[in-house]
Order: sequence, then structure tokens, then C-alpha cells
Amino acid sequence: MTQDKLDLLIDLHQPNPRQGPGGDAQTELALRLTGLDPAAPLTVADIGCGTGAATLALARLLPQAQITAVDFLPPFLTTLQQRNKAAGVADQVTPLAASMSELPFADAQFDLLWSEGAIYNMGFENGVKNWRRFLKPGGVLVASELTWTTNTRPVELQAFWDAAYSEVATAADKIRVLERHGYSPLGYFVLPETCWRDAYYRPLQAGFNDFLCRHGNSEAARALVAEHEQEIALYEANSMYFGYGVYVARRITFPQT
Ligand code: SAM
Repeated sequence: MTQDKLDLLIDLHQPNPRQGPGGDAQTELALRLTGLDPAAPLTVADIGCGTGAATLALARLLPQAQITAVDFLPPFLTTLQQRNKAAGVADQVTPLAASMSELPFADAQFDLLWSEGAIYNMGFENGVKNWRRFLKPGGVLVASELTWTTNTRPVELQAFWDAAYSEVATAADKIRVLERHGYSPLGYFVLPETCWRDAYYRPLQAGFNDFLCRHGNSEAARALVAEHEQEIALYEANSMYFGYGVYVARRITFPQT
């Protein structure tokens, strides 16, 4: 992607409460499924945090936790810090500009690794495999990931996602990936459609006109809006076939033999 397009993408998404589908109630549900003690001084990383939708919810739900909020886009982290300050949780959150595929973490540093709508950037399997060592034994990974919610689907839809993100699979397949890489599944649920429509797409669409004005209705800005409108139309036409699955899984450690 060119720097110009990346700058446009940042400008389009930065004003919004979240940069992907999700919701506070779903973050809370996933946290409950981890079985971790919310009153404990947990060490947490939110990987691909964007402007901090999940970071803020986690800081509120885990008042004793220290959260490292990681994103490779510094402007998102600037907004995240402003939101943390406004919410009174800045002392719990350390922003970190880093790539999710080269995280500067120590082995067994975290009780909880969190990633909403972001692990696909390095591929689900690659992510769960590479991040596992950052978890303490018994630590928990929570990741949301594009998932087929039915066993069959229109051929064109399959072809579209095969080209765009070849790892889209059913929950059974995703859980097998987790098991293959040393995790024990604790829970799985699908984000409701409101997490796409009301929490993500509607605020995004509401900002299209201002975004186009900020960029003088340039061809590049119009093309980016058109891309997002196509994505929204694809979701609206096919939401019965795919969604975001939320996967909760514990790192297992095998006894030494
Ligand atoms: N978790 C946030 C949320 O739900 O609102 C953001 C989700 S957004 C779809 C994906 C995020 O991953 C973006 O903030 C993007 O900057 C970040 N990202 C993409 N590739 C990355 C990489 N290689 N390393 C770190 N962050 C990355």
C-alpha cells in the first residue's frame, strides 16, 4: 500500500470509536470466558488496538491490570492516549508502536493476549503460533477473526474471500488451528450483526462526507470511500454466511518428559 493511501485510511478511521466490528458487551463476554480473576493485577496486551475500543473496555473491566496497547500506526495510539486520559485509565495503559509480527515482548510476559479484528494482518495461524510464547503457562488468548458461519455458501462469495483472505474458515477449522498450536479452547461465539452495523459501519458511513471534504473530493478519497461501500454491501448481502468469531483459548503447557 502506498503511504498516500495509508494516510487516507488513517484519516478515514481515526475519528471513529472503533476500526472494526465489536462491542463493549462482547469484550466483556469474552473476558468472562477467559475465567481470569478480574480483580487480579493481570498483564495484558491488546494487539492491533487501533484507537483503543477494546483497550478502554478492558481497562474498565480489569481495574488492577496493566495493558500494553500495540498498533503499528502511531496516529491511532495518539488518539488512544487521549481517550485513555479522558476515561481516567491512562495510568493502566502503555501504548506501543510496533508490528504485531515483531513484538518486543519477553517469553511468558502476559496473562492475557487480546486482539479484536486484527490478527488477520499476519494470518490467524501465524499469529496464534507466534504469540503463544508471550503467554504465561495457563495464560489466555482472545482473538476475533473472520469466520464462515455456515458450512456452505455461494461460490462467488467463497471465491471473493479466497482471494482477499484465504484463511477464512469455519469455527471448527479455527479451533483445530488453536489446538494444533498448543491451546485449549475455552469458548467461542459469533459477534452479533449490531457489532458490524451499529458499532462499526454506521459511524464510518456517517464520516464519509466530511472525509471527502477534507480531501477536496479527490479521486483517491472517492476511491477509498467506494472500497468501503463495497465492503459494506458485501456484508449486507451475505451476513448470514460470515461474521467475526471470537475465540478464547488457554495456553497449555505439557509436562516435561
Ligand atoms: N482492535 C481495533 C478495533 O477493534 O477497533 C482495531 C481493529 S482494525 C480492523 C486493525 C488494526 O490493526 C488497525 O488499528 C491497524 O493499524 C492494526 N494493524 C494492522 N497491521 C498491523 C501490524 N502489522 N502490526 C500492528 N498493528 C497492525
